[in-house]
Amino acid sequence: MEFSSKLLEEAVNEMSQLPGIGRRTALRLVLHLLKQPESQTVALSKSLVDLKTEVKFCKNCHNISDTELCEICANKSRQSEIVCVVEDIRDVMAIENTSQYRGLYHVLGGKINPMEGVGPSQLTIKSLVDKARSGEVKEIIFALSSTLEGDTTNFYIFKQLEGLDIRTSTIARGISVGDELEYADEVTLGRSITNRIPFENSLKS
Ligand SMILES: [Zn+2]
Repeated sequence: MEFSSKLLEEAVNEMSQLPGIGRRTALRLVLHLLKQPESQTVALSKSLVDLKTEVKFCKNCHNISDTELCEICANKSRQSEIVCVVEDIRDVMAIENTSQYRGLYHVLGGKINPMEGVGPSQLTIKSLVDKARSGEVKEIIFALSSTLEGDTTNFYIFKQLEGLDIRTSTIARGISVGDELEYADEVTLGRSITNRIPFENSLKS
């Protein structure tokens, strides 16, 4: 792609770093922004910088939050002895939308993926195990997508919890293998949480 302007080329380069944005799409987006009033581009840039510099992560569940303790963890009417393990905030949003779950979450920040260099220490697994050891948790529900990485992560955590007096369960798989949680419909997802099965049973299949 030949550019008549260095500034344009730089903007396209940056934009095309985003996932799913090729250089053609990047060019289209940049040209779109160029046509908009300057105030809009300033607002967009500012919101991204603010997000990056000011965002907090809940000290209990590691979900993205504006406060030290997120609204879910701070809500006294939630069942704090049940913890649902998810990959990221999209899963929390999907499960919250079902209105079927009243426990808390633990956001891992990803899944174990040796191919991409993601090991257990890059995720919030230690914090989950510490929480489990503290005795406040009675049940841990695994709700990662059932991909190879999801299964590996579940099993790794399951092994870490061995010997603790904690029930482990996994969401029932009305959701087909490999589906990401965020795409499952609310009814199916809600039902799969209500009808969760002991984690050990999922290992035999
Ligand atoms: Zn929280």
